[in-house]
Amino acid sequence: MSRPLDVLVVGAGPTGLTMACELRRYGLSCRIVDQADAPSGIPKAVAVQPRTLEVFDIMGLDEEFVANGRQVQGFNVYAGGQRLVHLTMDGMPTRYSYMLTLPQSETERLLTKRLSDLGVEVERSVQFANVAQQEDGIAATLRHADATTDTVQARWLIGCDGAHSAVRKALGLPFEGARYEESFLLAYVRIEERAPVDEVRAFFTPDGPVGLLPLPQGRHYVILPLFKETAETDRTTVSLDELKTFLAQRGMASLRILEAFWITKFRIHRRIVPSLRVGRVFLCGDAAHIHSPAGGQGMNLGIQDAFNLAWKLALVTSGVAKPRLLDSYHAERHPIASETLIGTDLATRVITLRSPLAQAVRNQVAMFMSSLDVVQHRLAQALSGLVRNYRKTPMVGEYHRGFLGVVTGVHATAEPPGFSEWRKFVAAPAAGDRAPDGNLSVRGTGVPVRLFELLRPGRHVLLLFAGRGTTPARYRKLEEIEQGVRARYRDLIAVHLVVPQAAPTAALRWDGSRLLDAEGELHRQYGAGSECLYLIRPDGYVGYRSQPADAGRLSAYLQTMFI
Ligand SMILES: Cc1cc2nc3c(=O)[nH]c(=O)nc-3n(C[C@H](O)[C@H](O)[C@H](O)COP(=O)(O)OP(=O)(O)OC[C@H]3O[C@@H](n4cnc5c(N)ncnc54)[C@H](O)[C@@H]3O)c2cc1C
Repeated sequence: MSRPLDVLVVGAGPTGLTMACELRRYGLSCRIVDQADAPSGIPKAVAVQPRTLEVFDIMGLDEEFVANGRQVQGFNVYAGGQRLVHLTMDGMPTRYSYMLTLPQSETERLLTKRLSDLGVEVERSVQFANVAQQEDGIAATLRHADATTDTVQARWLIGCDGAHSAVRKALGLPFEGARYEESFLLAYVRIEERAPVDEVRAFFTPDGPVGLLPLPQGRHYVILPLFKETAETDRTTVSLDELKTFLAQRGMASLRILEAFWITKFRIHRRIVPSLRVGRVFLCGDAAHIHSPAGGQGMNLGIQDAFNLAWKLALVTSGVAKPRLLDSYHAERHPIASETLIGTDLATRVITLRSPLAQAVRNQVAMFMSSLDVVQHRLAQALSGLVRNYRKTPMVGEYHRGFLGVVTGVHATAEPPGFSEWRKFVAAPAAGDRAPDGNLSVRGTGVPVRLFELLRPGRHVLLLFAGRGTTPARYRKLEEIEQGVRARYRDLIAVHLVVPQAAPTAALRWDGSRLLDAEGELHRQYGAGSECLYLIRPDGYVGYRSQPADAGRLSAYLQTMFI
């Protein structure tokens, strides 16, 4: 008998395509269906966050995205001819210290191509109609263009079918929230520019804001919220003349539009489901949460939902991880979606203020706040997606001595970290944080390798940091950890010993992977002045860490996840 289908993905937008690519990367069988007979081809979401680029890096897709997109470094807000706010992504701790702009249609094209390379084609003109849940799988009813239906059996169903999700409705889940009074006008245009500006510009005018977002091929998005009196009609088409009138009303008649490729007007909502999972059915992306486009978060959130869930499904489906791992999808992603709803709601209210007094106060506060480096940095970080984390969620853990234990010298180990090493470790990425990338080389051959490249095979990566001043006894301890993990989790966890330049490893009996951190970059980033370990999950987050490296505690953590 043939193996049952592992996963049926409904919806081939950016979320569903990422999900299907990831499931295939992990070796699961999947089908992906979409009710549309062809990709929509419209640009919609254009901002690809640094964190999403890191996701594409781990998927091995970053170069194609970067080659096709436009790098936007800064964000500016102007009012009354004055610059109120300037944010820059320059200096962000990532290879991608910019927002990449790329029409969503291009994002979908690149993901579809990758999926095709992985042997899966999107099945078009196939509409999900309903689902019945069984103990060990689901039965989904699909409707075809000729009105016939068929039933697909799979172990799991993932609804990535957008804001009007039929999967969500079939589950009977409420989509709690509200519709905004304002709607948004979006124009994909070519404008007259004296010199290209690779920064976002927003102009606060008394009649409402206007945003200008640079896109590839010398094009721009012009974005403006429309207030209740102009937003009332549900008509989604807007003519170029109407756009010019709106711009003139906001004192922007000098913005010359040379060509308009697509202009639309759409209503916006803030809504979220109470649960991202019901039995064997999961919701990802807009099917689970929608919010204002302020900050360009929507598509990024969906892609990162898929990236969070896929590896967990792969481990549970192949029978090596406990089913409870799947509960962590809701525990980790729902709070992030909720925070995004709150943040984008606040931003929308601030940018759409109408009273002249409120606008004046807003502009003053914005100017003052953005003059503070710390505020600028925080805002840029929030836009980058790099600081979102899964701290204090059930499937991550860590161990290090408490402050008192360190200062009073009460330690469980014979060779504890000193106060300075302890402090650096505590300040480094914690369990649940994004694991920063870093440059290493294979000791012996000198072949350069980055941490994210180590994650591409889709396994957990265990980094054993020898720290500085390593003794033969400590190396032996790390060897034992490596051997223990290799014996039990050979195909699931790739173990690497990370050594600094001057490490005396000649006497080391180590036949596993040894990576040289010649510049000390990874040791610095991970606060690894003394011996410690980090377990990096396949999605590039810290699953577990400890200082010192501790075989018993690591093993206890692994047993919470693996069978
Ligand atoms: C006009 C417009 C402009 C936008 N601009 C921005 C922006 O500037 N910034 C931003 O962050 N976000 C923006 N968004 C939102 C952004 O496009 C979404 O967040 C993003 O598309 C979500 O991706 P998704 O894959 O979750 O859902 P979608 O892209 O909506 O994909 C869902 C897919 O499911 C398919 N589908 C639906 N129902 C079924 C069914 N029953 N059976 C089979 N298939 C089905 C659909 O055909 C579709 O292909 C915009 C949206 C619109 C409409």
